[in-house]
Parts: sequence; C-alpha cells; structure tokens
Amino acid sequence: MIQQAGTGAERERVVVIGGGPGGATAAAFLAMKGLAPLLLERERFPRFHIGESLLPASQAVWERLGIAEPLQHSGYTFKFGGRFAVGRSRKDDEALSATGTFSNIPPGYATPRPFAYQVERAVFDKQLLEHATACGARVREASVRRVLFEGERAVGVEVLDADGVTRTIRCELVIDASGRYAVTARQRGLLELDPVVQTSACFAHYHGVSRDDGALQGYFNGYYVEHGWVWFIPLAGDVMSVGLVQNKPACDRWSNDARVELERVLGRHAYMRKRFAKARSSSKARMFRDLAYRSRSFAGPGWLAVGDAAFFIDPLYSSGVHTALLMGEAAAEAAAASLEHGGCAKPLHAYERRFEKYYRFTRGYICSVYKILRTHSAATAYTWVPGVLFNNLDHPLIRPVTRFLNGYFEEHHGFALMARASMEAAAFAAGTLARWTGWGSWERFEAEGGEDSEPLLLDAPARELPAPRRASARMPVAR
Ligand SMILES: Cc1cc2nc3c(=O)[nH]c(=O)nc-3n(C[C@H](O)[C@H](O)[C@H](O)COP(=O)(O)OP(=O)(O)OC[C@H]3O[C@@H](n4cnc5c(N)ncnc54)[C@H](O)[C@@H]3O)c2cc1C
Repeated sequence: MIQQAGTGAERERVVVIGGGPGGATAAAFLAMKGLAPLLLERERFPRFHIGESLLPASQAVWERLGIAEPLQHSGYTFKFGGRFAVGRSRKDDEALSATGTFSNIPPGYATPRPFAYQVERAVFDKQLLEHATACGARVREASVRRVLFEGERAVGVEVLDADGVTRTIRCELVIDASGRYAVTARQRGLLELDPVVQTSACFAHYHGVSRDDGALQGYFNGYYVEHGWVWFIPLAGDVMSVGLVQNKPACDRWSNDARVELERVLGRHAYMRKRFAKARSSSKARMFRDLAYRSRSFAGPGWLAVGDAAFFIDPLYSSGVHTALLMGEAAAEAAAASLEHGGCAKPLHAYERRFEKYYRFTRGYICSVYKILRTHSAATAYTWVPGVLFNNLDHPLIRPVTRFLNGYFEEHHGFALMARASMEAAAFAAGTLARWTGWGSWERFEAEGGEDSEPLLLDAPARELPAPRRASARMPVAR
C-alpha cells in the first residue's frame, strides 16, 4: 500500500536515515538541542556490523554525548594501543614490530580516558542508539526508499515501514547516515570508487587465538602482507576478529570464498599461524569488495551526508567509526544552525568544506601507505623507523605520529604532509629497486619462505551467524 505525498504526509523538522554510529550521534546531539529528530533504521538491532576497533580521540565526542562513563563499564576490551608488524621471513616465528601506546599521546590531547575499546558492533551500536533515544530522538524501524527532492532541495523521504506500508515523511532537513548504502549519493549518481585505494577485505571471528599478556592483550595487532595487511582485534569473551585487506592487484587473485582467502594468508606466515594453535572459528567469513569510495558531495540544500554515507577510505587506522562520530556531531551543529536561520545554506557549506578537507587529507595519507605496502622492503622500513629508530613512537620528535594515528587527523595536516613526502619517496625508491633487481619485493619474500604446504583452513563453525538482512556486501558502483 502506498500513501502518496502531499495530503496526509507526516511532517518532521529533521529526519535521520540510519542508526549506526553516525546517525545515532547526529540524532542524540540534535535531541540535546531540543530538535528531537526522527531516526529511521531498516535493521532490527542488535545486528552484525564490521568496524570493531575504536580510537581514543572518540572519547572527547563521547564525553560531550554523555556516554563516556557508561561505555567504560560495558565490558568491552580496553584498547591501550596498537602494534604493526612485518615478517622478516615467512618461516620466522617473530615479526619486526612497532608499537604505539596511547599513554604517549602528549598532554593537552589526552582525554581523561586515554584509551579506546575493541567492540562487538552489534552491542556497541545498540548502546549508542538507545542513548540517542534516551536523549530524546525517536527511532522507527523503516527502510528509506528514496529522498524526495523538489528541484535541488531535499524535502522529505519515502519509507517502507515495518507494517509493509510505504509512507511519505516531509521534513526541513535530511541527515543521511545510511552507511555504505549511501541512499542520497546513490540516488543522485554521486558515488565514485577510489582510483588508488582499491582494496577488498575478508574477515571472520575465532575463539582461542593467542593474545599477549596484561595491557597488551587488548592492543590492535596489524601485520603487513603483500599489498595489504591483516588485523587481529581482540574482543570480549575470547573472540578474536581477524581480517585481511589487500589492494589491487593482490585482491584481484581472490576467489569468492572468504574463508579460503583469509586462512590461506594466515597459514602462510609462521608468526600469524602460531597464534592459531588452539583456535577454532566461531562465525561465518565475509568478503567486502571495493572498500574505498566517496560521494562527490557531502551536503546540499536540505541534506547532509554523515560517515560512510559520505565516504569511506580504509580500515587501516580504525578511523571509520571516529569519522562517523565527528561528522554526526558536526552535522547536528550545521542542521541546527541552518534551521535557526530559516534553512540557510551557509552552515551546510561550511560542513561540506570541513569534511572535504578532512577527506582529502586522510585519503592522501592512506594512499601513501598503500604505495609503501607495494614492496616488502618499504613496509619493513615503515615499521623499523617508528619501532626501532624512534623506540616504538615514544620519542618527542615523533609523538605527533601517535596523536595522528589515534584520531587527531585534523590537527596534523603539516606533519602528515611531511610524513607523506618521505613515504612517497621511500615507496618510489623501493619500488624502482624491486623492479630492477627483485630485491625487497613481496615476490621474493613469498618465494624465500618455501612452498605453501600447510594452509590454515580451520573447520567452519557448525552454526554460522545469519547474514544481515537485506545487506549486500558488495559496494555497488554509481552509474
Ligand atoms: C572491512 C572493514 C573493516 C572496518 N574496520 C573498522 C575498524 O576496525 N574501526 C572503525 O572505526 N571502522 C572500521 N570500519 C569502518 C566502519 O565500519 C564504518 O566506517 C562505520 O560503521 C560507519 O558508521 P556509519 O554510522 O556511517 O554507518 P553504518 O555503521 O554502516 O550505519 C548505517 C546504518 O544505516 C542503516 N541503513 C542503511 N540504509 C538504510 C535505509 N535505506 N533506510 C534506513 N536505514 C538504513 C543500516 O542498516 C545501518 O544500521 C571498517 C569497514 C570495513 C569495510
């Protein structure tokens, strides 16, 4: 049944599409400003979502949201830092590593809680959404079919409600936080894939993967591999989230079997393989293709895009949720300012400018990292410099790196430009050497490890988790 626009259409001031971290944050801040938005979420929470490692810079947003204290007591794994490693040889049990500890964040940036969490997103997202409701947002289970436009201005949404009826909701402002579904950008033909970061990921949960002791047990662990990296994210209850991200051309060689591709790489490297001695898999494995994309516009008359609905670059520095939180808060500010001045466009433009700059800056850095990851020798240097030369980033000269890598992206444009220049130079030199002599290439690293005789391939769990409803793992390309 379709209820047509015009007569009988519901009216709201602000509609938020999506109840992930971006939408829940925008809705909570709007409610705190007395604007009590209507948030539309298509999934019934709790639901699976990837994106489990968070950043300490988010603590500042959580303090302002009034949820920092409850989050601390919710049983998530405490994350006090991260370690990135690269193997000297595939047969070595130990890999060269660089550890970044949040206690190295210089005073002035550290919040009262200088740590982050590793979270099961089903639980975390539900908690954030319930907080938004407690702040005064109204949440409704409904799938947004399309955003309604009159000329260039967004004037409402068409939704499919849980009772199967299609309804029209008119509003003054739409905040699109629909994640990779990117309702507005898709509808307007604004989506484009990244030409440099062309990564894909496969990931799964395991029980019994070994962890470090003490505070280190909650650290994020990353291992650089050919054109990419592997994540180990320790969740509560002895669950380890493990994922593989590879850029082209490496991911072009993948089959469609996520478990095979993930466990082949884990099994090939002794320093990862040994962590699985007592492991068993505890979830289905999933694969996402084409991770990096953007909308050509993050805002327009009557609408704003937040988090993944605007862009996603890469999971490498665990910045997705933090970015969604920052954008959610800023979108609430911009929406409130715009409504206060009769729908004025200026705050929306300012929002778009701020995050366009944020996007270009963080993307530039990530592009340089993937250039570094094209050769084993450059990846080794990228680990050796902070790990050995700068004593695990604990050096006054390199502390901006710790700050930057923990979410203070906007504050460090100058530093990152310098870091990028040196990374690009190193990547170019290592790449040229590898092309001419083969020295330092991933091909040589792989060949020196001998035959791939023992792939890991753990048994699939007897009962796999159901796939999220109506979710399509593949990022559709804008046409
Ligand atoms: C492989 C991979 C690994 C990642 N790892 C990390 C990590 O370790 N740390 C990190 O911080 N980030 C990580 N990310 C990124 C992170 O998952 C996202 O950046 C983050 O979830 C973005 O939040 P969001 O609120 O913008 O979107 P989402 O969390 O995706 O929320 C969007 C919501 O909108 C709803 N929705 C969609 N369409 C509609 C519709 N039409 N109507 C109503 N509701 C709708 C969806 O159901 C969903 O609940 C990773 C991403 C990938 C792909």
